[in-house]
Amino acid sequence: MDVLVVNCGSSSIKLDVLDPQTGERRSSEVLERISGNHGEALREALARMQTDTIGAVGHRVVHGGDAFTAPARIDDEVCAAVEALIPLAPLHNPANLAGIVAAREALPDLPHVAVFDTAFHATLPRRARHYALPADVAERHGLRRYGFHGPSHGWVSRQAARWMDADPETLRVVTCHLGNGCSVAAVEYGRSVETSMGMTPLEGLVMGTRSGDVDPGVLLTLMRAEGLDADGLDTLLNRESGLAGLSGVGNDLRDIEARAAEGDERCRLAMHVFAHRVRKYIGAYAAVMGGVDAIVFTGGIGENSAQMRNRIAQRLEFLGARLDADRNRDASVDDATPVAAISDERSRCRLLVIRTDEARAIAQDAAALATGADAVGAGTIPIAISARHIHLTRDAVDALFGEGHELTPYKPLSQPGQFACEERLTIVGPRRSIEGVRVLGPERGRCQVEISRTDEFHLGVDAPVRNSGDVKGTPPVTLVGPAGSLTLEQGLICARRHVHMHSDDAARFGVEKGDVVDVHVDSDGRDLIFGDVLVRVKDSYRLEMHIDTDEANAAEITRGHEGALVATSATCKLMRKRPPSV
Ligand code: ADP
Repeated sequence: MDVLVVNCGSSSIKLDVLDPQTGERRSSEVLERISGNHGEALREALARMQTDTIGAVGHRVVHGGDAFTAPARIDDEVCAAVEALIPLAPLHNPANLAGIVAAREALPDLPHVAVFDTAFHATLPRRARHYALPADVAERHGLRRYGFHGPSHGWVSRQAARWMDADPETLRVVTCHLGNGCSVAAVEYGRSVETSMGMTPLEGLVMGTRSGDVDPGVLLTLMRAEGLDADGLDTLLNRESGLAGLSGVGNDLRDIEARAAEGDERCRLAMHVFAHRVRKYIGAYAAVMGGVDAIVFTGGIGENSAQMRNRIAQRLEFLGARLDADRNRDASVDDATPVAAISDERSRCRLLVIRTDEARAIAQDAAALATGADAVGAGTIPIAISARHIHLTRDAVDALFGEGHELTPYKPLSQPGQFACEERLTIVGPRRSIEGVRVLGPERGRCQVEISRTDEFHLGVDAPVRNSGDVKGTPPVTLVGPAGSLTLEQGLICARRHVHMHSDDAARFGVEKGDVVDVHVDSDGRDLIFGDVLVRVKDSYRLEMHIDTDEANAAEITRGHEGALVATSATCKLMRKRPPSV
């Protein structure tokens, strides 16, 4: 099945017909200088096109707001929601919507799917989503960070993992999409946790004609000193700034590089400011993730300008990233060879040039939804509340309870073989301690302390949301027991929501180990949808969803009694799974 990908920009329309599996292009067309009537231009192009192999249409939609955290099958309701988001993306969403309307009219029998630039960044944690503005003002106008270029960041981060022969869930990748629009993303274990574009695609890096970051005080000064109004500022920041504004010779980096070599000082400065800003973000994102395993360059500039890559990748040795100058100069990527390594053999962190393919990423999402790859089976799943608890190694038991101490089972837990212990410990934080925290048995290969957000603020620590067992790079924590205290170098987490399943259940629900699902919670209290729930499958598991105490409170799930893992009368249903991506 081929997919038609429609990318309606403010002044151009890109159309690609391709096989989402192989990436093979049947046709590609760019309609330039569309002024106003996107529908008309698209109708004419579709009338010329061979459409009989097309099984689905994928539409790039720039802003999905809070409403869309995943691709969506387009119906009238989705169209209305995209329209409602126009205030957040006044340049892009109207064009995207015009394309959707025209394509649905021209190809009414095909499934149409909207793929959002913002959706890949739906996993940004709250701390990365918020501007430090008054909460009520932010709330009123939807002022928060969303992030863009999602299909590209997602695509190249997965290609990087594939090239490194690693599971994306084990890697910390910084992806630099450097084209006309530019953004950086921090992709931690497969999920975007920070990105340089914000509420609009104006924040962050220096771009072709966009300023990226400026002190908001600059805008106030311009308003006062030059009497600029909103439209004036919009034009200045979106169309007259960036490489074009700095260099004075336009937004094409090729021209700027040529003139800089001839001695043009403004062009030299433009390149310095551009490279400096990217390098600054790479360093910042390495700090956000506590390290970085790969840095990816993509987009027209990232894929083609060896000079710019060289400038950006200087002085990154402290991150373990060492550029190989020859490989960088010779690197060339195309559809046949989409990845080139430009780091040297001693580099712990890979530097990669990867050809982006946003159309293919969109086509895969569209094909997945058109064929129902996000579908899940019906059926209810019991919910249990997982209270704060501690898993210990044999050595930790010795240190905390005395040499040779055996953990005493207090109560079996619902997952076979697991039990709550008589033993309890104190967790010591910089602010306060929490006493009487249950140890769970049996002993494990690694220590892990699972707490809730509320516990986090009580203790005064910062615990990342992680899959159980995945403690790499998590904070240290001190435990006190009757025989002594022990400071773990790492292991403090807020456990990610997950569903335990036997393989028979997994088959019944149409999911696999590692799938990420959305879940609808039916409690006596509030109806709630939990996104980003991990499916864990083992034949020793009993069907059960685990949430923490804060999440149970949010869903108003009433709890019978205290305990490490409390069964409840609440249940949930799977709604959909995130379609698998290449
Ligand atoms: P878009 O964001 O519109 O998809 P692209 O990803 O195609 O844009 O990137 C366009 C940018 O890439 C332009 O600024 C162009 O100057 C730059 N570019 C393309 N090829 C080269 C090259 N060989 N050297 C330097 N810059 C290049």
